[in-house]
Amino acid sequence: MPEAAVPPIGRLAVVGLGLIGSSIARAARRYGLAREIVAVDADEAVRERVRELAIADHVTGDAAEGARDTDVVVLCVPVGAMGAVAEAMAPRLKPGAVISDVGSVKGSVVAAIQPHLPEGVALVPGHPIAGTEYSGPDAGFSTLFAGRWCILTPPEGTPEDAVLRVRGLWEGMGALVETMSPEHHDRVLAITSHVPHLIAYNIVGTAADLEAVTQSEVIKFSASGFRDFTRIAASDPTMWRDIFLNNRDAVLEMLGRFNEDLAALARAVRWSDGEALHAMFTRTRAIRRSIVALGQDTAAPDFGRPRPAEDGK
Ligand code: NAP
Repeated sequence: MPEAAVPPIGRLAVVGLGLIGSSIARAARRYGLAREIVAVDADEAVRERVRELAIADHVTGDAAEGARDTDVVVLCVPVGAMGAVAEAMAPRLKPGAVISDVGSVKGSVVAAIQPHLPEGVALVPGHPIAGTEYSGPDAGFSTLFAGRWCILTPPEGTPEDAVLRVRGLWEGMGALVETMSPEHHDRVLAITSHVPHLIAYNIVGTAADLEAVTQSEVIKFSASGFRDFTRIAASDPTMWRDIFLNNRDAVLEMLGRFNEDLAALARAVRWSDGEALHAMFTRTRAIRRSIVALGQDTAAPDFGRPRPAEDGK
């Protein structure tokens, strides 16, 4: 990503310097996307670490100070905390400022932020489809969003220049941007992200409860597939609790579909219907190949995990 000649944003405030927030601060600095970066975090230990990492020009725990003279605010706190942070910051933003966020649910976040917006402050919600199972300011890196999608869900009537400013920030960090309604976002993400996480949490929990298959065997033979679920099930508990509490309807709808399809698969196993199983697995393999073809994952064996050196050759 080339560095911008003139920073497109004056003062950028990033609130919540965890995996996502610290990655935005790092990328905005690296690619010259803001003249000044303000880091706002409620946690003193996080603020101290952000100062040590030198990824922002100013670091504060005071939301009002973070809002002062700011052009763009990006809220990177858990979904359940968005409303309170917006309430503290939005009335102090200057006219023409834009408030955005990175929450994994959009309908409830728009509902939590919008009532606090004063006249002249625009809301352009966003969600980068990028992340890892790690949290905190040390987990972030400037290339996290490169080649990844970021979905924007501006409410109807949002000024075009506000949308363009937020789009420019994400494109400046290397992301591909798509716009849709918050409701559509929440249904798409329920099936592509939220239900898969619920399944991972469930299968890892079930395996841990199965004392008959000793725990040590579950761990020992994990490379047979279980291990890949444990990576997802290691995701931040607060973040994921908030996602399920805030995208309840779409998650339950998709879970209903999932349960029906699982019952059909169980039936095929019970009745030794090899043809149905083979047809299903062929269809799913094609989906994996199209994800790789779109550059959203690696085709390397075992997800690109390094292999032990073979005989030093
Ligand atoms: P994270 O690493 O846990 O970081 C969140 C940060 O926000 C922490 O430093 C936390 O402080 C701070 N915080 C919490 N409440 C706050 C408040 N009221 N005021 C100021 N700071 C506060 O989380 P993350 O993974 O970056 O996720 C942040 C957001 O990004 C979430 O809304 C999530 O849905 C979204 N998102 C995450 C991913 C992902 O893969 N992780 C991907 C896309 C979008 P404490 O240390 O005190 O908790």
